[in-house]
Order: sequence, then C-alpha cells, then structure tokens
Amino acid sequence: MAGFPVQPQIYHLNDQFRETSRRSPPNPAGGLFGAGHGPATRLGSLISLLNDPANCGRNPRIEIGFRSMCSDEQQLPGGVFSTWLSEVDAALNTGSGIDVPCGDCIACCKSHQFIHIEPTETETLSRIPKELLFPAPGEGPGNMLMGYDEHGCCPMLVEDSCSIYSHRPRTCRTYDCRVFPASDIKNTEIDIPLIAHQAQRWKFTYETRHDQDLRSAVQATADFLRRHPECFADGSPHNATHLATMAIKAHKVFVRMDEERKNTGQIPEDRKVVEAIIAEIRN
Ligand code: SF4
Ligand code: SF4
Repeated sequence: MAGFPVQPQIYHLNDQFRETSRRSPPNPAGGLFGAGHGPATRLGSLISLLNDPANCGRNPRIEIGFRSMCSDEQQLPGGVFSTWLSEVDAALNTGSGIDVPCGDCIACCKSHQFIHIEPTETETLSRIPKELLFPAPGEGPGNMLMGYDEHGCCPMLVEDSCSIYSHRPRTCRTYDCRVFPASDIKNTEIDIPLIAHQAQRWKFTYETRHDQDLRSAVQATADFLRRHPECFADGSPHNATHLATMAIKAHKVFVRMDEERKNTGQIPEDRKVVEAIIAEIRN
C-alpha cells in the first residue's frame, strides 16, 4: 500500500482488494517454518469460506482441515519479548524475513489469501507460473497478486510444503502471527479463523522490566491507533494484521514519549503523537 511499502499485504476480495499480510510455508522435512523448522507458511487475506459464518462447519473439507490444524491446544513459546520485537520490527522494515517456529501449522498457506509480490522480487516471480499471477489492484506497475486454489491453498503449496521456499514472496517471509498477541489484538478481531486460533497459543517470556515496558508500548500504540485512524494512509486500518504491524512499527514513538514524560512530566498532545506515528511508519 502506498506509504507502507514494507507492510505485508493480503487482499480481501470482499473488501475491494485491500491490504493484507502473509507468511511462511511448510517444511520439506515435515515441519513448517521458522528457525529449526525449515520452510514456513504465509498469508494475505481475502474472502474466505472460513470467514463466512454461513459456511463454517458446513464444508466437510474445510472442517476436517481446520480440526487437523487446530488439534494441538498447547501453548507455544513465543520467545523473549524484547528479542522477538527487535527481530519482527527489522523484518517489517527491511523485508528480510523472520523465522517463526510454526511447528506443523500451515494456516497461512491455507487461508484463502492473495499474496502480494513486488516487482523487485524477480527471483520469486520467475518461479511462479505466469497464469497464477495477476496485477495487484491499486498498486504500481509490476506489482502482482498470486491467488489460491479451490481449497483456499496457495498454488505453490505442494504436499504441505512450499515448493518455492527459498524464493518465497517477501509477504511470506515477513508474516508472523505473534504480532496479534503482542499488540493485544483479540481473536475476534482477526478475520482469518485458522490464524486467529494459532495466534492465541503464543506465550512470550518477560525476563526483565524492559520486556514488559516494550509490550506496554506496543499495546499502547495499538490502542492509540484504534482511536486515531487518521494515522493510517487510507484513513483506517484495513484489518487486524494491518493494525498489529503498524503498532509494531510505531511502538518506538511511545517508547520515546514515555522517556520524555519521565524527564519533563508532560504528556504530549494527541496531535503530536499522530504526527510522530505517521513519520515513524513512513520512514
Ligand atoms: S508461496 Fe505459498 S506455499 Fe510458499 S510460503 Fe507463501 S503462501 Fe506458503
Ligand atoms: S498462522 Fe502463525 S504459526 Fe501458523 S503458519 Fe502462519 S505464522 Fe506460522
């Protein structure tokens, strides 16, 4: 999206093709994604049968798939909060990617997502059959979208493994569903049920006061963004992923302002916070 070039993107068909995000593919070795798990999955977002209450639980194929991916209700270690935040912030700002310990979850690759691929991702584009790509609405020349098959799966997903893992889209490399619990976004706010389920399993570790302060900053940022949609280029967040990733990117504003408050005893005006957030997320 204009103004947020690093933002992972997903497009909702039922929302006039708006923003999204995505991420990692499955692991050839049987695992999925992230450090120690090989390939990961991804995401993006679109109208989905799963999102439609009229379809939930009525399509046997979907229901079976959902249950198989969600049978494990155990908590997942999300890592030390400050370490994770530093990594995901870098991934969002540089497009370098982040290792997510997805285990056997491949929800991102099976959630009816349109995956945005930028024109600079030439290696990725060369590995995807041209018939699977189409111009991304509202984006500049060369920006493409890759759709999904009749089951909602990414066409590059072969036997639950990403067939182009080493050259997967940047959108896939930078998606991390831990952004939801980190920014205190509730499951009910996440428009992709499979991902919402997985997101609630993550538990971060808070080793120091610094970890707790950073989490407070991210959550305060998300709360502020909800109350001040003017921070967003399009006047509002497109979805929960957009809100969460912007909270991650802009949390440094709240860290700085908290320092200033401690030094001066003054609380900045909302207008100045809005300006600072816009400057931060557009850098
Ligand atoms: S390209 Fe497809 S299969 Fe590969 S990680 Fe991205 S969504 Fe998953
Ligand atoms: S939903 Fe989360 S854990 Fe599952 S594949 Fe996507 S990023 Fe990994």
